[in-house]
Amino acid sequence: MKVSFLTIIVSLILAVASCTSNHKDPNDADKKFAAFEDRFLDAYWKQYPSNGIYNGYGKYYDKLTIPDSTGVLGNISFSKQWQDSLLHMDTLQLSDNNKISWSIIQNQLESDIWYQSVFREYEWNPSLYNISGECDYIINQPYAPLDERLITLSNRLQYAGAYYKAAFKILHRPTKEHTELAIIQNQGGLSVFGQALTDSIKASHLSDADKATLQQRITGTTSAINVYIDSLKAFVANTNFTFRSFRIGKELFTQKFRYDLATNLTPGEVYAKAMADKKMYHQKMFVVATALWPKYYGAQPKPTDTIQLVQSIIDKIQLRHAAPKDFYDSLTNQVHQLKKFILSRNLFDFDTINPPVKVRIMPEYARGVTVANAEFAPTYQAQGETYYNIDDLTLYPKEKAESALKEYNNYASQFLSIHEAMPGHCLQGIYNKKKSPDVLRSVFQNGAMVEGWAVYTENMMFENGWGNNSPEIELVFYKLKLRVLANVLLDYDLQCLDAPKEAIIALLTKECFQTAAQAEEKYHRATVSQAQLCFYYTGGTAILSLRDEYKKKMGDQFTLKDFHEKFLSFGSSPIKYIREKMLQ
Ligand code: ZN
Repeated sequence: MKVSFLTIIVSLILAVASCTSNHKDPNDADKKFAAFEDRFLDAYWKQYPSNGIYNGYGKYYDKLTIPDSTGVLGNISFSKQWQDSLLHMDTLQLSDNNKISWSIIQNQLESDIWYQSVFREYEWNPSLYNISGECDYIINQPYAPLDERLITLSNRLQYAGAYYKAAFKILHRPTKEHTELAIIQNQGGLSVFGQALTDSIKASHLSDADKATLQQRITGTTSAINVYIDSLKAFVANTNFTFRSFRIGKELFTQKFRYDLATNLTPGEVYAKAMADKKMYHQKMFVVATALWPKYYGAQPKPTDTIQLVQSIIDKIQLRHAAPKDFYDSLTNQVHQLKKFILSRNLFDFDTINPPVKVRIMPEYARGVTVANAEFAPTYQAQGETYYNIDDLTLYPKEKAESALKEYNNYASQFLSIHEAMPGHCLQGIYNKKKSPDVLRSVFQNGAMVEGWAVYTENMMFENGWGNNSPEIELVFYKLKLRVLANVLLDYDLQCLDAPKEAIIALLTKECFQTAAQAEEKYHRATVSQAQLCFYYTGGTAILSLRDEYKKKMGDQFTLKDFHEKFLSFGSSPIKYIREKMLQ
C-alpha cells in the first residue's frame, strides 16, 4: 500500500483552516468527519476496486478497471476532487486522532497524484498488471457463499481481455527487470484458473448456463494472460529493444522516499546514519567474536582480519539449530517464552498480550517466500484472526532445509519470532484489530511504522535482557542489525549512486555476513522495488529516537509499558504524526 506525506502547503492550509473556525461542538465536528471518512473510503474502493478486494471491502468486487490513459486522468481528478473537500473542512474542532486521519487522507491523495503524474510506473512496470491475486482472493476467501463468489468472479473476468490489451498498450519502454518479473508472476498466476477452480465450479449450484459462461470467461482470461506473457517475452528476446534502466535516480528516489515513508528525514540523512551504525556494529562484533574465539576454536590462531574473525564465529553459531521436524515446536515455544518474559518485565498491558498470538503451520498458499511470517485478516473482514505462520521444514529438500536452519539457528530464530510475532507484527496486528481498531490507518498503513515497530521490538527485547544477553545472541543481534541497515545502503547505492551489482554483493557478503544466495536474492529485490527496503531501518531508528525524547519529556514518570501502549494506540500512522502527538 502506498503512503504519502504532509507538505508544507498542507500544513499552512491546516493552520489557516484552524484560524477561521471557532466555537463549534467538537463532537459534532468528529461525527461529521466520521461520515466523511466513510464516504471517502467507499468512493476510494470504487475508484480502486482491486485494492478494495485486498482489504476485504466487498462492494465492488465485480469491477475491473481498465488501465488506460482515461483511467489515469480519472484517478488524478478523483484525488483532486477529494483534496478539495478536505481543504474545505473545519479541522480545528477535530480530535487529535481525527486530525491525524485528516493528514493521512491528504497524504494518500497527494501521493496518488504523484504516482500517476510524475512517477508514472504504469508505463514501465509490466508487473503491475496481474489479476490473479485478486481473483484468487475471490475464489478462496470465504467472505460469501461459493455460488455468489463464482458469479462475482464471472462478472469480473468478462473484462480481462480488455484489461490485458490496455495494459500492454499503455506500456512505454519498460525495464527489463520488471518485464521479467511480470512474466514470472503472470505465469505463476495462471494456476489460479486451473483444475481447482474447475472443480469448484462443478461442485457449485450455479445453473448450467452460468457455469458455461464462467468457463468461457476463464478460457478468455487465460488466453489474454498468455498473449500478454508472450508479448513481454518478445521484448526480452528482441536484442534491439531498448529497456529503461531500473534505477530511478536520486531525484525521483528522494520524492518516493518522502511519499512512501511519510517522514521528514531525507534518504541522504538516513544513509549517513546507516553508514555510521555499520562501523559501530563491526566494532562491537569484533569484541564479542574475540571473546568467543577460545570457546569455539580453542588454542587455534585467530584470523588477523576482523571480518574473517567474526565470520568464523558466526559459522560455528549457525550450526546450533533445530532439526527440521522440531523447528515448528521450537518457534511455538519461543512465543510462549516471549509472552512470559514480556509480562515479567512489565513491557505491555496484560490485555495487549492476551488474546494470544495464534501460531499455526503455514498454509499452502503462503509458502515459498519465508520460513515464518505474520498473516493478517483483511481490514473489513470482521472475523479475521492474526496468525504467526511457521513453515513445515520437513517438506523442504534436505539442502534447502539445512540452509534455512543455519540462517534461522537457535539464536536468530528468536529474533524472527520477536519480529514476526511477539511483540512485533502479530502483537501490533492484534492491537489494531481488537484494542484500537481504525479502518483508515489499517488500509493506508504506513510501512515504515509497521516494519519499524517490528525492528524496534528486536532492539527493545535485546536491551531488556532477552536471551540473557549471551555473547551468541549478541553477535546474532548485530548481524541482524547489519542486514537491516544494509537494506538502506544498497537501495540508495543502486538507485541513486549508480553502484554496480558487484559492489552490492560485496557489501552483503563481505561486510554483512550474508551468503552468496541471500545477496543475490536481495540484489534482485532491490532492482524491482525502490525505497521499500528503507522502511525497516528508517522506521526502527525513528521509534528509538522518539522513545528517547518521550523519556526526556516524562522524566520519572517514564515507563516502557506506557510508551508502548501510547505508541500503538495511534495505529499504523506515520511515525512523525505519532511523534507530534506524543511529545505535545
Ligand atoms: Zn517485518
